Amino acid sequence: MSATTPTDDSSTHALGSRTSAPTSDSSVPAPPQPLEEFFVSDIAPTADQPGRSFSLETFAQDIASRSQSYGETLEAAEAVPNEERSEPDRLFLQSHQDLCRILEEKLIIAENATIAGHMPCKADAQIDYLLWMTRAVYLWSSLNLEKTRAALRTNVDHRQRIEAVVEWIGHEIFCTLRELEQELPRPDEADEYENVGPEHDTTAIGVIVPWPELTDEQHDMRRETGRVDLALDDHDRDHRMRCTICMDEYSSDDLPLRLNACAHIIGQACLSVWLNGTEVQANTCPYCRTRLCDRRERRPKPMAPEREQKIQKLVSFLGKLGKTFGKVQGIVRWSFGGDEEEVRRYGREMLVKVNSSCEQWGIGLRVATQYVAT
Ligand SMILES: [Zn+2]
Ligand SMILES: [Zn+2]
Repeated sequence: MSATTPTDDSSTHALGSRTSAPTSDSSVPAPPQPLEEFFVSDIAPTADQPGRSFSLETFAQDIASRSQSYGETLEAAEAVPNEERSEPDRLFLQSHQDLCRILEEKLIIAENATIAGHMPCKADAQIDYLLWMTRAVYLWSSLNLEKTRAALRTNVDHRQRIEAVVEWIGHEIFCTLRELEQELPRPDEADEYENVGPEHDTTAIGVIVPWPELTDEQHDMRRETGRVDLALDDHDRDHRMRCTICMDEYSSDDLPLRLNACAHIIGQACLSVWLNGTEVQANTCPYCRTRLCDRRERRPKPMAPEREQKIQKLVSFLGKLGKTFGKVQGIVRWSFGGDEEEVRRYGREMLVKVNSSCEQWGIGLRVATQYVAT
Protein backbone atom coordinates (compact mmCIF):
# COMPACT_ATOMS: atom_id res chain seq x y z
CA MET A 1 0.00 0.00 0.00
CA SER A 2 1.39 3.37 -0.92
CA ALA A 3 0.91 6.60 0.92
CA THR A 4 -1.08 8.09 -1.92
CA THR A 5 -3.62 5.32 -2.23
CA PRO A 6 -5.06 4.67 1.19
CA THR A 7 -6.25 1.22 0.24
CA ASP A 8 -5.58 -1.14 -2.59
CA ASP A 9 -9.01 -2.61 -2.26
CA SER A 10 -11.08 -0.38 -4.47
CA SER A 11 -14.30 -1.75 -3.07
CA THR A 12 -13.58 -0.42 0.41
CA HIS A 13 -12.52 3.14 -0.50
CA ALA A 14 -10.74 3.44 2.79
CA LEU A 15 -10.15 7.15 2.62
CA GLY A 16 -12.36 7.96 -0.29
CA SER A 17 -10.98 8.63 -3.76
CA ARG A 18 -8.54 11.36 -4.57
CA THR A 19 -10.91 12.95 -7.02
CA SER A 20 -14.01 13.08 -4.87
CA ALA A 21 -12.74 14.33 -1.55
CA PRO A 22 -11.50 17.92 -2.00
CA THR A 23 -14.04 20.65 -2.48
CA SER A 24 -13.61 24.18 -3.70
CA ASP A 25 -14.80 25.88 -0.52
CA SER A 26 -12.49 23.83 1.69
CA SER A 27 -10.32 26.91 2.37
CA VAL A 28 -12.70 27.62 5.25
CA PRO A 29 -12.89 24.32 7.09
CA ALA A 30 -15.98 23.67 9.14
CA PRO A 31 -15.28 23.59 12.87
CA PRO A 32 -14.54 19.98 13.78
CA GLN A 33 -17.26 17.98 15.41
CA PRO A 34 -16.48 17.15 19.02
CA LEU A 35 -14.36 14.03 19.08
CA GLU A 36 -16.46 11.57 20.94
CA GLU A 37 -14.88 8.84 22.95
CA PHE A 38 -15.85 6.57 20.10
CA PHE A 39 -13.46 8.42 17.91
CA VAL A 40 -10.44 8.95 20.11
CA SER A 41 -7.74 6.31 20.07
CA ASP A 42 -4.02 6.02 20.38
CA ILE A 43 -2.05 3.29 18.77
CA ALA A 44 1.04 2.29 20.68
CA PRO A 45 4.37 1.80 18.89
CA THR A 46 4.58 -1.51 17.09
CA ALA A 47 7.50 -3.90 17.13
CA ASP A 48 8.45 -3.23 13.53
CA GLN A 49 8.30 0.52 14.02
CA PRO A 50 9.56 1.14 17.55
CA GLY A 51 9.31 4.68 18.78
CA ARG A 52 6.49 5.55 16.40
CA SER A 53 3.01 5.87 17.64
CA PHE A 54 -0.13 7.20 16.07
CA SER A 55 -2.55 9.50 17.81
CA LEU A 56 -5.85 9.86 16.07
CA GLU A 57 -6.66 12.95 18.08
CA THR A 58 -3.40 14.69 17.19
CA PHE A 59 -3.86 13.86 13.52
CA ALA A 60 -7.45 15.13 13.67
CA GLN A 61 -6.27 18.40 15.25
CA ASP A 62 -3.65 18.76 12.52
CA ILE A 63 -6.28 18.25 9.81
CA ALA A 64 -8.69 20.66 11.50
CA SER A 65 -6.02 23.35 11.72
CA ARG A 66 -5.30 23.29 7.97
CA SER A 67 -7.04 25.47 5.44
CA GLN A 68 -6.92 22.66 2.86
CA SER A 69 -8.78 19.39 2.91
CA TYR A 70 -7.08 16.09 3.78
CA GLY A 71 -6.81 15.22 0.07
CA GLU A 72 -5.43 18.61 -0.92
CA THR A 73 -2.91 18.58 1.93
CA LEU A 74 -1.82 15.10 0.97
CA GLU A 75 -1.44 16.03 -2.69
CA ALA A 76 0.52 19.18 -1.87
CA ALA A 77 2.80 17.41 0.61
CA GLU A 78 3.55 14.60 -1.80
CA ALA A 79 4.31 17.02 -4.62
CA VAL A 80 7.30 18.37 -2.67
CA PRO A 81 10.49 16.27 -2.67
CA ASN A 82 11.31 14.64 0.66
CA GLU A 83 14.20 16.91 1.57
CA GLU A 84 12.24 20.11 0.87
CA ARG A 85 9.14 19.10 2.76
CA SER A 86 8.17 21.26 5.76
CA GLU A 87 8.15 19.66 9.22
CA PRO A 88 4.32 19.89 9.59
CA ASP A 89 3.87 18.29 6.16
CA ARG A 90 6.38 15.59 7.02
CA LEU A 91 4.40 14.80 10.19
CA PHE A 92 1.15 14.87 8.23
CA LEU A 93 2.46 12.35 5.70
CA GLN A 94 3.75 10.14 8.48
CA SER A 95 0.34 10.16 10.20
CA HIS A 96 -1.33 9.43 6.88
CA GLN A 97 0.94 6.44 6.32
CA ASP A 98 0.33 5.25 9.88
CA LEU A 99 -3.40 5.43 9.37
CA CYS A 100 -3.15 3.46 6.12
CA ARG A 101 -1.00 0.87 7.86
CA ILE A 102 -3.45 0.56 10.75
CA LEU A 103 -6.36 0.11 8.36
CA GLU A 104 -4.47 -2.52 6.44
CA GLU A 105 -3.57 -4.38 9.63
CA LYS A 106 -7.12 -4.22 10.99
CA LEU A 107 -8.47 -5.52 7.70
CA ILE A 108 -6.11 -8.50 7.70
CA ILE A 109 -7.02 -9.32 11.31
CA ALA A 110 -10.74 -9.03 10.50
CA GLU A 111 -10.48 -11.26 7.43
CA ASN A 112 -8.41 -13.88 9.25
CA ALA A 113 -10.85 -13.92 12.16
CA THR A 114 -13.74 -14.35 9.73
CA ILE A 115 -12.00 -17.32 8.12
CA ALA A 116 -11.31 -18.83 11.58
CA GLY A 117 -15.01 -18.35 12.22
CA HIS A 118 -15.06 -18.06 16.01
CA MET A 119 -17.51 -15.86 17.81
CA PRO A 120 -17.24 -13.37 19.35
CA CYS A 121 -13.66 -12.93 18.05
CA LYS A 122 -14.69 -12.51 14.43
CA ALA A 123 -17.34 -9.92 15.34
CA ASP A 124 -14.86 -8.02 17.53
CA ALA A 125 -12.27 -7.99 14.75
CA GLN A 126 -14.76 -6.78 12.14
CA ILE A 127 -16.06 -4.13 14.51
CA ASP A 128 -12.51 -2.95 15.13
CA TYR A 129 -11.93 -2.65 11.40
CA LEU A 130 -15.28 -0.92 10.84
CA LEU A 131 -14.46 1.48 13.64
CA TRP A 132 -11.13 2.39 12.08
CA MET A 133 -12.71 2.67 8.65
CA THR A 134 -15.27 5.09 10.04
CA ARG A 135 -12.57 7.10 11.77
CA ALA A 136 -10.46 7.19 8.62
CA VAL A 137 -13.33 8.37 6.44
CA TYR A 138 -14.15 11.02 9.02
CA LEU A 139 -10.58 12.29 8.84
CA TRP A 140 -10.56 12.07 5.06
CA SER A 141 -13.74 14.15 5.05
CA SER A 142 -11.81 16.75 7.06
CA LEU A 143 -13.93 16.03 10.12
CA ASN A 144 -17.14 16.81 8.31
CA LEU A 145 -19.69 14.38 9.58
CA GLU A 146 -22.11 14.92 6.71
CA LYS A 147 -19.44 14.13 4.14
CA THR A 148 -18.37 11.12 6.22
CA ARG A 149 -21.87 9.77 6.17
CA ALA A 150 -22.39 10.53 2.50
CA ALA A 151 -19.28 8.45 1.74
CA LEU A 152 -20.13 5.57 4.07
CA ARG A 153 -23.81 5.36 3.22
CA THR A 154 -22.92 4.45 -0.34
CA ASN A 155 -20.07 2.13 0.63
CA VAL A 156 -21.35 -1.38 -0.07
CA ASP A 157 -18.46 -3.12 1.69
CA HIS A 158 -18.99 -1.11 4.87
CA ARG A 159 -22.70 -1.89 4.95
CA GLN A 160 -22.20 -5.58 4.17
CA ARG A 161 -19.69 -5.93 6.99
CA ILE A 162 -22.10 -4.31 9.43
CA GLU A 163 -24.89 -6.59 8.27
CA ALA A 164 -22.67 -9.66 8.63
CA VAL A 165 -21.69 -8.72 12.18
CA VAL A 166 -25.34 -8.09 13.12
CA GLU A 167 -26.23 -11.51 11.71
CA TRP A 168 -23.43 -13.24 13.63
CA ILE A 169 -24.43 -11.57 16.88
CA GLY A 170 -28.09 -12.52 16.35
CA HIS A 171 -27.16 -16.14 15.66
CA GLU A 172 -24.88 -16.26 18.68
CA ILE A 173 -27.59 -14.82 20.92
CA PHE A 174 -29.96 -17.52 19.70
CA CYS A 175 -27.42 -20.33 20.26
CA THR A 176 -26.66 -19.02 23.74
CA LEU A 177 -30.39 -18.91 24.54
CA ARG A 178 -30.72 -22.53 23.43
CA GLU A 179 -27.89 -23.53 25.71
CA LEU A 180 -29.33 -21.47 28.53
CA GLU A 181 -32.68 -23.15 28.19
CA GLN A 182 -31.01 -26.54 28.68
CA GLU A 183 -29.60 -25.34 31.99
CA LEU A 184 -32.49 -23.38 33.46
CA PRO A 185 -35.05 -25.29 35.55
CA ARG A 186 -38.07 -26.03 33.38
CA PRO A 187 -41.41 -24.52 34.40
CA ASP A 188 -42.91 -28.00 34.79
CA GLU A 189 -39.92 -29.24 36.78
CA ALA A 190 -40.96 -29.90 40.40
CA ASP A 191 -39.12 -27.74 42.88
CA GLU A 192 -36.58 -29.64 44.89
CA TYR A 193 -36.65 -28.90 48.59
CA GLU A 194 -34.32 -29.34 51.48
CA ASN A 195 -35.24 -29.30 55.15
CA VAL A 196 -34.11 -26.59 57.51
CA GLY A 197 -33.30 -26.88 61.20
CA PRO A 198 -32.62 -29.89 63.47
CA GLU A 199 -33.81 -33.39 62.58
CA HIS A 200 -36.87 -34.93 64.20
CA ASP A 201 -36.10 -37.27 67.08
CA THR A 202 -38.19 -40.46 66.73
CA THR A 203 -38.11 -41.11 70.47
CA ALA A 204 -40.25 -37.98 70.95
CA ILE A 205 -43.16 -39.47 69.00
CA GLY A 206 -43.01 -43.14 69.95
CA VAL A 207 -41.50 -45.79 72.20
CA ILE A 208 -39.45 -48.84 71.30
CA VAL A 209 -41.41 -52.05 71.68
CA PRO A 210 -39.34 -54.68 73.61
CA TRP A 211 -38.84 -57.96 71.74
CA PRO A 212 -40.98 -60.12 74.13
CA GLU A 213 -43.82 -57.67 73.83
CA LEU A 214 -43.51 -57.66 70.03
CA THR A 215 -43.49 -61.45 69.96
CA ASP A 216 -46.69 -61.46 72.04
CA GLU A 217 -48.29 -58.98 69.66
CA GLN A 218 -47.34 -61.09 66.68
CA HIS A 219 -48.77 -64.15 68.40
CA ASP A 220 -52.05 -62.27 69.03
CA MET A 221 -52.09 -61.06 65.45
CA ARG A 222 -51.70 -64.62 64.11
CA ARG A 223 -54.53 -65.74 66.35
CA GLU A 224 -56.76 -62.82 65.18
CA THR A 225 -56.16 -63.54 61.55
CA GLY A 226 -55.47 -67.21 61.91
CA ARG A 227 -58.13 -68.36 59.53
CA VAL A 228 -56.67 -70.91 57.13
CA ASP A 229 -58.00 -69.15 54.06
CA LEU A 230 -56.14 -65.90 54.88
CA ALA A 231 -53.22 -65.30 52.56
CA LEU A 232 -49.80 -65.15 54.14
CA ASP A 233 -49.31 -61.74 52.52
CA ASP A 234 -51.89 -60.22 54.81
CA HIS A 235 -49.89 -61.38 57.81
CA ASP A 236 -46.76 -59.95 56.31
CA ARG A 237 -48.29 -56.58 55.65
CA ASP A 238 -49.28 -56.18 59.29
CA HIS A 239 -47.28 -53.47 61.04
CA ARG A 240 -46.64 -55.86 63.92
CA MET A 241 -44.83 -58.33 61.66
CA ARG A 242 -42.58 -56.07 59.69
CA CYS A 243 -41.70 -52.46 59.02
CA THR A 244 -44.26 -50.87 56.70
CA ILE A 245 -41.61 -48.80 54.99
CA CYS A 246 -38.88 -51.33 54.15
CA MET A 247 -41.09 -54.47 54.46
CA ASP A 248 -38.32 -56.23 56.38
CA GLU A 249 -38.83 -57.86 59.75
CA TYR A 250 -37.80 -55.75 62.69
CA SER A 251 -34.17 -56.09 63.73
CA SER A 252 -31.58 -54.34 65.83
CA ASP A 253 -30.95 -52.11 62.76
CA ASP A 254 -34.63 -51.18 62.43
CA LEU A 255 -36.13 -51.41 65.92
CA PRO A 256 -39.93 -51.58 66.29
CA LEU A 257 -41.21 -48.17 67.40
CA ARG A 258 -44.80 -47.78 68.55
CA LEU A 259 -46.16 -44.37 67.60
CA ASN A 260 -47.84 -42.41 70.40
CA ALA A 261 -50.40 -40.86 68.05
CA CYS A 262 -51.85 -43.98 66.40
CA ALA A 263 -50.18 -46.99 68.10
CA HIS A 264 -48.83 -48.27 64.79
CA ILE A 265 -45.41 -49.91 64.88
CA ILE A 266 -42.78 -48.78 62.40
CA GLY A 267 -39.05 -49.48 62.00
CA GLN A 268 -37.31 -46.69 63.88
CA ALA A 269 -34.50 -46.24 61.35
CA CYS A 270 -36.91 -46.08 58.42
CA LEU A 271 -39.24 -43.72 60.25
CA SER A 272 -36.37 -41.34 61.00
CA VAL A 273 -35.59 -41.12 57.27
CA TRP A 274 -39.31 -40.69 56.46
CA LEU A 275 -39.89 -37.95 59.05
CA ASN A 276 -36.84 -36.02 57.91
CA GLY A 277 -37.67 -36.33 54.25
CA THR A 278 -39.06 -33.49 52.17
CA GLU A 279 -42.33 -35.12 51.09
CA VAL A 280 -45.47 -33.22 51.92
CA GLN A 281 -46.75 -36.06 54.14
CA ALA A 282 -43.45 -36.72 55.88
CA ASN A 283 -44.92 -35.72 59.26
CA THR A 284 -47.64 -38.41 59.19
CA CYS A 285 -47.75 -42.12 60.00
CA PRO A 286 -46.80 -44.00 56.80
CA TYR A 287 -49.37 -46.64 57.73
CA CYS A 288 -52.46 -44.57 58.54
CA ARG A 289 -51.46 -40.93 57.80
CA THR A 290 -52.14 -39.77 61.34
CA ARG A 291 -50.24 -36.58 61.99
CA LEU A 292 -47.21 -37.33 64.18
CA CYS A 293 -45.46 -33.99 64.52
CA ASP A 294 -44.98 -30.61 62.80
CA ARG A 295 -43.60 -30.71 59.32
CA ARG A 296 -39.98 -29.73 59.18
CA GLU A 297 -39.46 -26.36 57.61
CA ARG A 298 -38.39 -26.71 53.99
CA ARG A 299 -36.79 -24.37 51.50
CA PRO A 300 -36.17 -24.80 47.76
CA LYS A 301 -32.91 -26.60 47.29
CA PRO A 302 -30.22 -24.31 45.95
CA MET A 303 -29.04 -25.10 42.44
CA ALA A 304 -25.91 -27.21 42.02
CA PRO A 305 -22.93 -24.82 41.91
CA GLU A 306 -21.73 -26.12 38.52
CA ARG A 307 -25.15 -25.56 37.02
CA GLU A 308 -25.45 -22.11 38.53
CA GLN A 309 -21.97 -21.20 37.28
CA LYS A 310 -22.83 -22.34 33.80
CA ILE A 311 -26.02 -20.27 33.80
CA GLN A 312 -24.15 -17.22 35.04
CA LYS A 313 -21.52 -17.72 32.36
CA LEU A 314 -24.16 -17.92 29.64
CA VAL A 315 -25.99 -14.87 30.95
CA SER A 316 -22.81 -12.84 31.13
CA PHE A 317 -21.94 -13.98 27.60
CA LEU A 318 -25.33 -12.67 26.48
CA GLY A 319 -24.43 -9.39 28.17
CA LYS A 320 -21.16 -9.32 26.26
CA LEU A 321 -23.01 -9.94 22.99
CA GLY A 322 -25.32 -7.07 23.90
CA LYS A 323 -22.32 -4.80 24.42
CA THR A 324 -20.83 -5.94 21.12
CA PHE A 325 -24.08 -5.07 19.43
CA GLY A 326 -23.95 -1.68 21.16
CA LYS A 327 -20.61 -1.08 19.43
CA VAL A 328 -22.17 -1.92 16.08
CA GLN A 329 -24.94 0.57 16.79
CA GLY A 330 -22.26 3.17 17.53
CA ILE A 331 -20.67 2.51 14.15
CA VAL A 332 -24.05 2.64 12.40
CA ARG A 333 -24.80 5.94 14.13
CA TRP A 334 -21.48 7.40 13.02
CA SER A 335 -21.64 5.91 9.55
CA PHE A 336 -25.19 6.42 8.45
CA GLY A 337 -26.11 9.52 10.28
CA GLY A 338 -28.23 11.02 12.94
CA ASP A 339 -31.04 9.02 11.41
CA GLU A 340 -31.94 6.94 14.44
CA GLU A 341 -34.28 4.95 12.25
CA GLU A 342 -31.28 3.32 10.59
CA VAL A 343 -29.75 2.42 13.95
CA ARG A 344 -33.02 0.90 15.13
CA ARG A 345 -33.44 -0.98 11.87
CA TYR A 346 -30.38 -3.15 12.56
CA GLY A 347 -31.57 -3.81 16.10
CA ARG A 348 -35.03 -4.73 14.87
CA GLU A 349 -33.72 -6.99 12.14
CA MET A 350 -31.54 -8.82 14.62
CA LEU A 351 -34.38 -9.25 17.11
CA VAL A 352 -36.74 -10.50 14.43
CA LYS A 353 -34.13 -13.09 13.42
CA VAL A 354 -33.48 -14.17 17.01
CA ASN A 355 -37.19 -14.38 17.74
CA SER A 356 -38.02 -16.38 14.65
CA SER A 357 -35.17 -18.80 15.40
CA CYS A 358 -36.43 -19.16 18.96
CA GLU A 359 -39.91 -19.83 17.69
CA GLN A 360 -38.66 -22.36 15.18
CA TRP A 361 -36.71 -24.24 17.85
CA GLY A 362 -39.37 -23.87 20.49
CA ILE A 363 -37.22 -21.98 22.92
CA GLY A 364 -39.31 -20.90 25.88
CA LEU A 365 -40.61 -17.39 25.65
CA ARG A 366 -39.53 -16.85 29.24
CA VAL A 367 -35.89 -17.36 28.27
CA ALA A 368 -36.14 -15.04 25.32
CA THR A 369 -37.93 -12.27 27.18
CA GLN A 370 -35.69 -12.60 30.19
CA TYR A 371 -32.40 -12.39 28.40
CA VAL A 372 -32.82 -10.66 25.07
CA ALA A 373 -32.44 -6.95 25.56
CA THR A 374 -34.85 -4.98 23.46
ZN1 LIG B 1 -37.90 -50.40 57.94
ZN1 LIG C 1 -50.60 -45.03 62.17
